[in-house]
Amino acid sequence: MEDTATCMLCGSRESERFPPRYLNGRLWRCLDCDLVFVHPQPAVAELTALYGEEYFSNANSNELGYSDYEGDRENIYRTFRRRLKSLQGVHPGKAAVLDVGCAYGMFLEVAAEAAWDVHGIDISEHAVKRAQERLGDRVRAGVFLEEELPSERYDVVTMWDYLEHTLDPKADLAKARRLLVDGGILALATPDVGSMAAKIFGHRWMGYKLDEHLVYFSRATMRRFLEEAGFRIISMKHEGKYVSLRLFLQRLCLYAPFITPFVNLLRKARAVPPISFYASSRDILLVVAQKSNHAAG
Ligand SMILES: [Zn+2]
Repeated sequence: MEDTATCMLCGSRESERFPPRYLNGRLWRCLDCDLVFVHPQPAVAELTALYGEEYFSNANSNELGYSDYEGDRENIYRTFRRRLKSLQGVHPGKAAVLDVGCAYGMFLEVAAEAAWDVHGIDISEHAVKRAQERLGDRVRAGVFLEEELPSERYDVVTMWDYLEHTLDPKADLAKARRLLVDGGILALATPDVGSMAAKIFGHRWMGYKLDEHLVYFSRATMRRFLEEAGFRIISMKHEGKYVSLRLFLQRLCLYAPFITPFVNLLRKARAVPPISFYASSRDILLVVAQKSNHAAG
């Protein structure tokens, strides 16, 4: 087994396994800039295969994908409405938006309700088929870095839970910048490996999904990625999401395994009410940034 891995953010070859005792030695931390990343990386073809239908309805979603992405539709809309609202604070009025990693297109539906001109791309052919049922050919399947897209075309580029899944975030951000008009807005959400939750829960932290989450950002590494790609950060804060009580309990079992038998009893007795609420474990970064006039470095 190799004893070092090159950092994609700063290029340093000084890295160590992170956290040393866990996660099969596939996770590394750069000793120079603190970036946490999976090494070796999967091939693009493996990623394309990963995001099939099973990814969106996976019984073992604590490790991979979603337990019921379609069934969670209303909560996902609510989360996206909240995010759209904060985006409208920095970009009032209509906007042409490209959602990178758009999955079933739910953010785009919400943006279309606000009369935005919506476009989306996703690596998952399954997901794009679903999105096209509602949005038609405004959504396409493909790898963002490989697809030809018009330069300086979009007012807003969004990357919700996208950047941690990609092989080359630096190139993704450079491309996003190229596609944005002058002064255009980039908005993204990603797990925060520097959060309290990640520190407290260690290898149990639900951000650690090594087959799909390949890069783990903190405030500091995110800031560096964005600034080096030519963005000025407008805001960076922790954000939650709307969750069903059922999913909330499932996640809670991950962090507090001793309650699992109790939760299983509730489920069997169908005693978990179908309610949802906004929850935040303060471990998801929501970042809004603006294309600056000149790419740095
Ligand atoms: Zn580094």
